[in-house]
Amino acid sequence: MKKDNFKIAVFAGDGIGTEIMREALKILQLISDRKKMNFQLQEGLAGGCAYDRFGTPLPDESLKLAMQSDAVLLGAVGGPQWESLDYSVRPERALLGLRGKLGIYANLRPIIVFEELLDASPLKSNIVRGIDIMIIRELTGDVYFGRPRGVKTGKNGKRKGVNTLAYSEDEIRRIAVRAFEIARTRKKNLLSVDKANILETMELWRSVVTEVGKDYPDVALQHMYVDNCALQLIRNPSQFDVIVTSNLFGDILSDEAAMLTGSIGMLPSASLGRKSALYEPIHGSAPDIAGKNIANPLATILSVALMLRYSFAMSAEADLIEKAVTETLKEGYRTKDIDQPDKKLVGTTAMGDAVAANLHKLLN
Ligand code: NAD
Repeated sequence: MKKDNFKIAVFAGDGIGTEIMREALKILQLISDRKKMNFQLQEGLAGGCAYDRFGTPLPDESLKLAMQSDAVLLGAVGGPQWESLDYSVRPERALLGLRGKLGIYANLRPIIVFEELLDASPLKSNIVRGIDIMIIRELTGDVYFGRPRGVKTGKNGKRKGVNTLAYSEDEIRRIAVRAFEIARTRKKNLLSVDKANILETMELWRSVVTEVGKDYPDVALQHMYVDNCALQLIRNPSQFDVIVTSNLFGDILSDEAAMLTGSIGMLPSASLGRKSALYEPIHGSAPDIAGKNIANPLATILSVALMLRYSFAMSAEADLIEKAVTETLKEGYRTKDIDQPDKKLVGTTAMGDAVAANLHKLLN
């Protein structure tokens, strides 16, 4: 039976975090009222605001809240006032702590170019029109965690740096299964990106992904080398549906793909883990515009849609939120970061209200 009772830990964070989270929660409240869901929201402190109050960016209380929740919704953390702090208590450590404790292993980044915002892309509109890519990045392996690592000075007095590209078969299998499952809910095309022509670990990656693919005969699997993928993302990005790749390649490719849209305030993300999942916009706390009611709340609102789809199996409602965002853009509403001539320039609150009004209509 479908569950209708979910615990959500909410961390608005720093900078524009509180402003964008307020609008995202409006949307969640609307879904909750109209669909008779019982979302139990519990707000906590994470990031610089937590450091100011408790001397740590991720207090035990916040961690407990996250661990006991079905999903975590996060605004953004960080800001110049905390930049001189020791690395161990910087606001960004809260993210690392949450990811680690929640056993996060997959990052999902949908790259969608809205027809209404085609001009925001640095590429020509005929290249980016219709882009709808899901990039799935493995998060626990690769050169970021492999050992040995470090820089040592040899007998000759010269330094040598080493990082190790390592993946276990289980790590590859786990992300591949997720990717095939997600591809199944989309156009059923999965591209696995590697460097199997040069790196043995990537040869293993390719072979495990291929093995997993045997259980998903309905999904078309292809492989591509990372250098070619970087090129194809600019040349012909609309050929892609779901892309699964390793930690390092995913780090780079997902940022490259994000730039196709040209609007950082529009992109949500999901980080899926063994214990829970974390949903957040890809942008930071934008201290330069905090407190001015001009931040774009759409990435955070779209993160709510991802949460409904991937944590609560509420795809229909997720689709409606995405549709409400599209409708709002079609009506001409724009925050400053995506403003265009002859459009309705609005602030954070008014943008949230406009999406809520459209969602209200769609839910009727
Ligand atoms: P940023 O993403 O905060 O801002 C980059 C630029 O984009 C700024 O000009 C900002 O005004 C604009 N921008 C970002 N989000 C926007 C939105 N929703 N609407 C309109 N404009 C938006 O990146 P930054 O300036 O490099 O970092 C600022 C702080 O955020 C730093 O402390 C950094 O460490 C932190 N950060 C946090 C996260 C996170 O919480 N996940 C991610 C990245 C950066």
